[in-house]
Amino acid sequence: MNISKRRNELQDYYSNAFDVNVLSQVIDFSSFSTREFGFTGQSGKFFRNISFETPNALQDFLIDRCPTNAYIGAVYDNPPSREQPIHTLEWKGHELVFDIDLNDYDAVRKHVCDCTGAGQVCLRCWQLINVSISLIDETLRRDFGMTEIIWLFSGRRGVHGWVRDSITFDLDRDQRQSIIDYLTVIKGEDEKARVQDRKQLKYEFRKRTELTIFKYSLKDVRRKDLVNLGLSGSAATKIVNQLKHQEGKVDDNLIRRFNKNLASVNKYDEVLRRWAPRIDHKVTIDLRRLLRMPMSIHGKTGRIAQILDLDIVFEFNPEDQPSIFSDIQIEE
Ligand SMILES: [Zn+2]
Repeated sequence: MNISKRRNELQDYYSNAFDVNVLSQVIDFSSFSTREFGFTGQSGKFFRNISFETPNALQDFLIDRCPTNAYIGAVYDNPPSREQPIHTLEWKGHELVFDIDLNDYDAVRKHVCDCTGAGQVCLRCWQLINVSISLIDETLRRDFGMTEIIWLFSGRRGVHGWVRDSITFDLDRDQRQSIIDYLTVIKGEDEKARVQDRKQLKYEFRKRTELTIFKYSLKDVRRKDLVNLGLSGSAATKIVNQLKHQEGKVDDNLIRRFNKNLASVNKYDEVLRRWAPRIDHKVTIDLRRLLRMPMSIHGKTGRIAQILDLDIVFEFNPEDQPSIFSDIQIEE
């Protein structure tokens, strides 16, 4: 890796392609000057407790310093600085945020695609993330009445959700935790994760979860996936043929057939376990958390933390996203 070349590539991006005003879709600019920012410098050193008077001052900083990573934090009563670090200031608010990373699906990813190694991603396993986005987004809108929700590609193997409705801004840690609890379908991590007792989930949310998961898990399902799940060869063939016949459209009829097959081999919960959202709840409840700045560059991949269009989110493939680094190395 050539450091000065990397620096030039970042400078070129922040000078010519980055539009600081896009940030206003994610954060409220009226409190811009008292918001915390954090960065990884060219030396690799991480620093935070930084604030800027205006969005343009932030852009000037990015062009001048070319940080390899840029992050946004909470809003305080005064501008954070080295002299006035955040722990000396009064916390005023932070958007409600969600972090979903494909790493948290490593134990179940092998059932949906042929990726080998944690570094690999394909359109098939990325659907695990897309199902989570779809379910959480719909639930926040319908069950919580939130409307200003933005989803971003993290630049590597995950996504971030930002909710900037004013009612979310000053939610405390416990209130954020209770939203996470509402959205929790599986308890535990990795192979030990289990579907919660259904009575713990609100009826509407449970029905939506099941429908969303069955709909999208069947979309590109292969015969071998169904057989591995425990379905008989003939049941698996029937589903795949019906799907082909319907040109990939998953309708109620197909979902009913799948449900019946799953019930007969006692694998209903297994499908939910594989596909249910795996939200990093620590990120949501940490009020002082720094999260990657929208439209900034991910320092490892050179990819942009871009805003996702939910209408076509199921076609988004992280591997197809261009890198601004010309000498990017493929991770193992
Ligand atoms: Zn994959």
